[in-house]
Amino acid sequence: MNSVHREALVTGGAGFIGSHLVDRLMSEGWDVVVIDNLSVCSLENIKRWLDNRRFRFIRGDLKDAGVADDAVAGVEVVFHFAANPEVRVGEVDPSVHFRENLVCSFNVLEAMRKSRSAKTLVFASTSTVYGEASVFPTPEGYGPLVPISTYGASKLGCEGLACSYAGTFGLRALILRFANVVGPRSGHGVIVDFVGKLRADSKRLEILGDGAQKKSYLWIDDCIEAVFGLTRRFLESKERVKIFNVGSADQVTVARIGEIVVEEMGLRDVEFVFTGGVEGGRGWRGDVKTMYLSIEKLMKTGWKPRYNSERAVRLAARAILGKR
Ligand code: NAD
Repeated sequence: MNSVHREALVTGGAGFIGSHLVDRLMSEGWDVVVIDNLSVCSLENIKRWLDNRRFRFIRGDLKDAGVADDAVAGVEVVFHFAANPEVRVGEVDPSVHFRENLVCSFNVLEAMRKSRSAKTLVFASTSTVYGEASVFPTPEGYGPLVPISTYGASKLGCEGLACSYAGTFGLRALILRFANVVGPRSGHGVIVDFVGKLRADSKRLEILGDGAQKKSYLWIDDCIEAVFGLTRRFLESKERVKIFNVGSADQVTVARIGEIVVEEMGLRDVEFVFTGGVEGGRGWRGDVKTMYLSIEKLMKTGWKPRYNSERAVRLAARAILGKR
């Protein structure tokens, strides 16, 4: 892909995963447009590229269809990574995921339908589309898909829309179901939450749920390697729709994450206070207790994660603490 000149739009490209993807695309010689409304991030994540002639930043909101049309015009590949990724938000206001995820994705797909050039979508989906799976590790073919959060539901809806635009309008869609991705620039999730709480009170850590929630965590560089490698293969293929899980090969509990963060902050005698949570120890309604994706299909492409979940969490804690 190095030798081929490509133009991409990265929606949400100033955010955590999006900005790391931008770094990779820019270093591979792509022309990159980023659209972001900077709702939860700042330009800091992409400031190294702002003066580069292969780079263009649009501050805009994808809920506005006209803005989506302008952003998509002229590019070839659309990496749609903008979203509200906070699962917990749905418990308080379900309309957020409808607007930020479904409406924005619809606008992006409509813009692609009208565009002459933008015919390949790479979509950042999530493990939460599986809901409470009964098979672990959970393969891509698992079903029926019964999400338990509005976040998971909105992303499953986006996947469905992307597939329908492939079937009806000839677009191509690469759908990537991410596990928890962690690393520098991350502004949300359990590690960020724990670091913030321990900075406020170094003697006590409140842990939502019973602490036994067990999930897979993937280091950001491993994630970007998978996104880039799968995109390259997809562009070389003729497939309409491909779906891959993107995760690590094991899991770690929330309580263990608490211990790792405490260790990395150099704290001692921290009391862990478990809220007990809801419905059998979940952190909140809609929280999936166990997540472990099968990455067999992805590994068959030659990719493998450099770090396991614990190592990824530790490195992410260091990065968030500014130790890296
Ligand atoms: P993030 O919040 O850091 O990045 C999302 C970006 O989208 C932000 O910069 C935000 O400002 C932008 N954005 C949000 N709404 C927008 C709108 N209406 N118009 C324009 N820009 C908008 O999140 P992230 O962790 O980098 O996640 C990136 C993608 O990956 C999301 O689609 C998320 O759902 C998905 N995902 C993330 C994880 C994870 O562990 N981080 C796991 C599974 C899936």
